[in-house]
Amino acid sequence: MKSVIAYVKKILVGLWNLILGMKITWLNLFRKKITEQYPENRDKLVMFERFRGELIMPHNANNEHKCTACGICQMNCPNGTIRITSKTETDEQTGKTKKVLDTYMYDLGSCIFCDLCVQTCPSDAITWSQAFEHSVYTRAKLDKKLNREGSKMAEKVKPTANETAIN
Ligand code: SF4
Ligand code: SF4
Repeated sequence: MKSVIAYVKKILVGLWNLILGMKITWLNLFRKKITEQYPENRDKLVMFERFRGELIMPHNANNEHKCTACGICQMNCPNGTIRITSKTETDEQTGKTKKVLDTYMYDLGSCIFCDLCVQTCPSDAITWSQAFEHSVYTRAKLDKKLNREGSKMAEKVKPTANETAIN
């Protein structure tokens, strides 16, 4: 008799576990679907807010960016994805020279999207775009210059102590 009770007990426990498992299945069956019909929906596809697609340097309508060429992002990048070159410019009014950004190179092919560069930038000069279609035929095309041609640092950006005027 004992063995029969144990047998029935095992069946009931098994059934209970099956119901628990199916509970998740049924819940997901009626939840809002998040499957994207890509690439059919390419035109209206919006990635989630925190998606890290590609590092970019925003420019305003006057072709100005907020990068002070301090090099902090380059120092914090764990695998040398960022290469910054700077130059000096003389202020025509004050005669002072200051360091400004010359080129900001970003190698998308070696970026691990760790976000350290963005988090440590004191000027909020770089951020993430939601671009995700990065297929190219040569790796060289993944090496991108983030500052636009003819762009300059926005006046309102206040350089930190390490990057102020040279003289
Ligand atoms: S201002 Fe920001 S983006 Fe520019 S070099 Fe410094 S840390 Fe990098
Ligand atoms: S996300 Fe990480 S790996 Fe990519 S550029 Fe920034 S610091 Fe470097």
